[in-house]
Parts: sequence; C-alpha cells; structure tokens
Amino acid sequence: MEKIKSEKLYKQALDLFPGGVNSPVRAFKSVGGTPLFFEKGQGSHVWDADGNEFIDFCCSWGPLILVHAHPTIVDAITETAKKGTSFGAPSKLENELGDLILSNHRFIEKIRFVSSGTEATMSAIRLARGYTNRDKIIKFEGCYHGHADHLLVKAGSGLVTFGTSSSAGVPEAFAKETLVLPLNDLEKVEKTFHDYKDQIACIIIEPIPANNGLLLQTKEYLEGLKTICKNNGALLIFDEVISGFRVGFEGAAGHYNISPDIITFGKIIGGGLPVGAYAASNEIMKSISPEGSVYQAGTLSGNPVAMAAGIAQLTACLQSDFYENLANKTKAFVEKIRFGTPSPFPLKINSIDSIFWLAFDNKDTIRSADEINPDSMNHFNKLHAFLLENGVYFGPSGYEVGFVSAAHTEEELDKVAKLIIGFVNSNN
Ligand code: PLP
Repeated sequence: MEKIKSEKLYKQALDLFPGGVNSPVRAFKSVGGTPLFFEKGQGSHVWDADGNEFIDFCCSWGPLILVHAHPTIVDAITETAKKGTSFGAPSKLENELGDLILSNHRFIEKIRFVSSGTEATMSAIRLARGYTNRDKIIKFEGCYHGHADHLLVKAGSGLVTFGTSSSAGVPEAFAKETLVLPLNDLEKVEKTFHDYKDQIACIIIEPIPANNGLLLQTKEYLEGLKTICKNNGALLIFDEVISGFRVGFEGAAGHYNISPDIITFGKIIGGGLPVGAYAASNEIMKSISPEGSVYQAGTLSGNPVAMAAGIAQLTACLQSDFYENLANKTKAFVEKIRFGTPSPFPLKINSIDSIFWLAFDNKDTIRSADEINPDSMNHFNKLHAFLLENGVYFGPSGYEVGFVSAAHTEEELDKVAKLIIGFVNSNN
C-alpha cells in the first residue's frame, strides 16, 4: 500500500500540531507507523490521500451510523448553511431536534445541547454537584468520559479509592474529588458510599463501556448502581456518548430498561457535526441556568447546521427495523468470525447491537479493565496492519471498538470476516 502523500502530509502536520494531530488516538501510536490522511468518504468506504480505498469500521469513532456523506444529511447541511451558519440566538431547528429526541425517549424530559461529548459530561457532573450540593463523584476504571479535569483520573494505589490524575495539568486537589472504582463490583461501590457518607454527588458510568475494549456489564450490576444512588441521595449519570442512539434510539437506558438520573449524548446526535447534549427530568434540569443556579453556556450550542445534520440522522434512525437490521448484520458478522476461528488461537469477540470488539484472549468474560491482557494488543497491531493492506480500516488501537453502519453490506461484512478468519488461522 502506497503512503507517499499521507506521509508527506504527516510530516507537514508535525510542524503544525502537537504530535502532528488534533486528537491523540489518530496518531497511530498504539499500532505503530504513521497515520493515514483521509480525503473522501462515501457509504461505508473511505479513501486516503494516496487513493487507497478502505471499508471503514471506525466510522469517525461512532457518530456515522449511516456512514459517510449520506445524501439526506449532506442536503440538510447544505440547505441550512445557505441560510446562515450561526446566530447566537434560538432557532427552530433546536426545537425540532429537541422534540425529536424527547418524544422518542422514555427516560428524559428536558435536554440542553452543547458542542461535544466532553462538554456534555463536564456539564452533567456540574449539574449533579449543584443539584445534590455535594462534591465527590465516582467513576470507573476502564470508562472514558472526555477530557475534563475531574474525569482524567485513574485509580490511586493500594486500598484508597482517591483518584490520581491521568494527565499532567490536572491539579491533585481536583483528582481527589474523583473516586475511581473497578467495574463489575457492587460491593466496592457500597463500601465507598459508606466511607464517604453524604459526600458523593453522582456515579458516572458508560453503561456500555466501549473505550477500553467493550466491557459489557450485567443488567443486575447497572440496576444495583441505580439502587445504591437512590438509597444515598446521589445521582446516576449514564454517559451515552457512544451508546446513545446506537443500541436502539433510547441507548443503553432503553436496552436495559433502567432510568438513570442524567444522560449524556454526543457522536450520533450530531450526524457527524459537533453536537453533544445532556438530559434529565424537568426537576433536575431546572437547576440549569438561566432557570437555576448551575451555570453552563456555549456560543455555538444548538448550532443550526449541526442541528440540521442531527435531525436528518436521527430521523433515519427512527425508521422501522433500522436498529434490528443493524444488529442482525453485526451478529451474523461476529458469528461468522467466531465459527471460523476455533481455539487454540485466543480470540474473543464482545459485541452488542452494532458495536464489536476483538479481544485476543480466551477468557469466558471480560468485564473490567484489569482483565485485559496488554500483551494481547500485539495480535491486534498485526491484524490492523494486515487489514489495512487488504482495504479495511479499523480504529488504530486494540482498545477501541468497531462499528457497523447502515451502509455496510452483507457482502462487505462477509469479505472482512473471511480476512479476519484467514489472519487468525494463519497465526494459529
Ligand atoms: N464520553 C464517551 C463515552 C466517549 O466515548 C467520548 C469520546 O470518545 C466522550 C465522552 C468525549 O466526547 P468528545 O470526544 O466528543 O469530547
């Protein structure tokens, strides 16, 4: 595969941006080599600057559930942009997207649009703190919630649950307000609420943790979190930036039939443009400014062009059988790989609806971050290079999940399943 133009662009980008990129995971540090620079996307395919064509399973890290350059979305963006790109005042399109979401989601009554997933989770935590008048939060090792200070925190050493910052520049005093626990362990959550009685504002969790492998939790566990929060006067935040509108329109809340107190959205909600949101009951949302005292604002929040893209995408998601078709396609793809790759080669595929993750491991279940063997990433790195050579683009890290979109055909999925099976068996 020729990479002359991508390499030249990367060299130029190194002089312009830290590490040559505007978001770290794009840099190919995990898999090695240099990033591809993309030029065009159409349906399930992308083309890089050298003209190489790939079937795309990264889908911009999740937003593109219909995939690239969907005509309805492109038309909505173009027509809206012609009338002006931003007003800094309310527009009808915000009402339309708000109504579309709230009238098709059982668990939320009011929503606030922001411009990214990070902004959504950051604001949701401020809301939980303001509403409960408490400072501490609980998050879980293996969940990512964007790059706000109090969320860039990892588990501290030993028995303490105090977090330590996972990035330079995050004051330890902030990190100390974040208590970090392992997933899939309700006892530790109970104990932490006991140890920090009346101090914990909220639990934030990716109900379908999909940023550190796909660490599927049980319904009982998620229900347990809800009960513990309720018993202790704390709020449960489902961070559905990935799972929202992905595993059904109502996301993980609908999938597990659990009503969290606050839900955060991102990715799919904006149809490929920068939109995030947080939503809750009227009672909780009335704490937000200008109605309440929790301040949160944004110059480009509810941007009309982004709203139009979100409306176009979510309207398509609401078509009957949309999610069923996606889930069926993905299931067939995953089953085909499972069937074609018998042991002893360690390969496990976790999947839910149109999200899948290849773990090079033979454990029966992998539900927490510490169950992932870092050495298994060597297998992924080889697979990644092999797939690129064969016209398939996966996100450049073995900790990242893959996405199937409405545009992937059964033939394409069959072709990719065969490639993966061939790779695994040639290494068996
Ligand atoms: N929450 C989750 C679950 C995410 O996966 C991400 C991004 O990947 C974020 C929050 C942050 O979203 P953004 O990258 O739009 O700021």
